[in-house]
Amino acid sequence: MILEKNLYFKNTPLMKEEWYTSLERTLLSNFAPKWNTIIGDRITDEDYSLVKNFESMLYENRDFMEEKPNEKIFNFIRRLKFHSFYFYSTLNGLDIEKDFYRIPFMTREDLQNKITELFPADIDLDRLIVNPTSGTTGKPILAPNHPYAIGCYVPLTEYTLFRYGIIHAHDHNITSGIQLCHQNKTIVYATSHSLAAGAKFVKINLKPNDWKSESSIDFFISEQSPIFFSGDPYSFEQAMKTGLNYKPKAILSTAIELEESLRLALVNHFKCPVINSYSLNETGPIAYSCPLDPEWLHILPHDIFVETVDLSGENKTFGEIVVTGGRNPFLPLLRYRTGDHGELNFSNCKCGEKSPRLKLLKGRKPISLSDTRGNTINPVDISRILRKYPHILRHQFIQRKGGGYMLNLSYLFSPNEPQMESIKSEFFELLGSDADIQITDSLPNDQSKIMVFINENIPI
Ligand SMILES: [Zn+2]
Repeated sequence: MILEKNLYFKNTPLMKEEWYTSLERTLLSNFAPKWNTIIGDRITDEDYSLVKNFESMLYENRDFMEEKPNEKIFNFIRRLKFHSFYFYSTLNGLDIEKDFYRIPFMTREDLQNKITELFPADIDLDRLIVNPTSGTTGKPILAPNHPYAIGCYVPLTEYTLFRYGIIHAHDHNITSGIQLCHQNKTIVYATSHSLAAGAKFVKINLKPNDWKSESSIDFFISEQSPIFFSGDPYSFEQAMKTGLNYKPKAILSTAIELEESLRLALVNHFKCPVINSYSLNETGPIAYSCPLDPEWLHILPHDIFVETVDLSGENKTFGEIVVTGGRNPFLPLLRYRTGDHGELNFSNCKCGEKSPRLKLLKGRKPISLSDTRGNTINPVDISRILRKYPHILRHQFIQRKGGGYMLNLSYLFSPNEPQMESIKSEFFELLGSDADIQITDSLPNDQSKIMVFINENIPI
């Protein structure tokens, strides 16, 4: 790829000459990956002020331990009622405050089929950015976005790091983060963040084909010395298995399926906090793991209202996660059903954060599994058994069509014979002594979403 300076300036309108000089050092490094994309934040002066305003609100409004939507959420809905046809028609005949819990849910199908009805009528489409996202169901949904809303990821990430005692300078000479990927094909780029005074952000792919030589990966990362790594658990697992030496100050894992055993192994290898973050393209970051109890994730932004609802749509402590609000002008959310499930807790937390907490259900959806006699078994029991073996990093459990079970594992070191025997006997105890169990070490590490539990007898 030829270095096209003018494109970097065009895509990052606030780019300064000294930011670019620093960015160029990264781009032209002898150890650099094979760049394949030029990306900028498209932040204008106006976006910049809006993000800075969002940032102050984010830090100031930290007390929103409310089980009901607050006035700001109601105002958000009131404003959109007369700007978005979707809001207008959905709210028809309803009193926003009194009937909030009767407002029909927004679904993935609405985003697939009615996206233009959602757009506020007076919005400037020139600022639209579209990233199709497939999620877990296959059919892509459009997640339209705005440079301002994407810009808000910077303070949201910084706030999360701040909660772990990590504060970094806004300086064009530093690399704030490197996003690690481990995919056959992905975009690879370096960029300057206008919202962090030109601090650099880099995305790399750990597959050796994306580098001039395999040894470059370690050299490049050390040379950039990022404050944090971001990415999905599979990429961190890969980095650990290949013995990546660099120690960042934190790891931000942005996927729901961060297994506790993998988290502990990563903490041990990288010697830093591993922060689990719950984020969707449609919503942006929703929650981050509590510094004292990583099982629970605190709601992060002050401008969303999170509910959990059961199958009939009733509000319950445990259920599907539903989000209202947000800051993406192209995707205002009105009781949006995320497809993920979790438990909501409104009690005060010892860490001092006064926002509700979510405990996410592994595997994204409740799944029904049964033993050989047809009795229901709890997937939690499967994870509980495997947690006893610290070298097992991840697992996938499949109940096969027509009988039998398959357990796909990924581990740091292969379990020895006695360990394997003890795993088997625990599974016989759980599933029945006549269970046909096949154990493999071939859990794929290439996709960003792998179902942890699958019952082939139930259509997905
Ligand atoms: Zn907490």
